[in-house]
Amino acid sequence: MDCHEAKNYISLYIDEEISDNKAEELLQHTKECATCRQLLLDMEFISRLLGAAGQSIMTAPEGLKDSIMEELGHKKGSRLEPVMKLMKDSWKRLSSRINRHN
Ligand SMILES: [Zn+2]
Repeated sequence: MDCHEAKNYISLYIDEEISDNKAEELLQHTKECATCRQLLLDMEFISRLLGAAGQSIMTAPEGLKDSIMEELGHKKGSRLEPVMKLMKDSWKRLSSRINRHN
């Protein structure tokens, strides 16, 4: 697995939409690659951080959601920018899943 692939799988991993095989490949990659390891840690941190609030943010109107995401990205500094980008994709998937249930 290369970094490009790993980045795609990280958001799937956070969403628990990844097969066990791929999860293992991803974790193997993060053992060898500090960049992806950090990305995974950041994603896990943000997703935990947003756990409770995330639900209500997800159902917020698109514009509002974007500004919340931008705000979070800026607060933590530019290091988190790629993470926030991944989170946006992740959220899109999550909100479509939630909307389906409603
Ligand atoms: Zn990597």
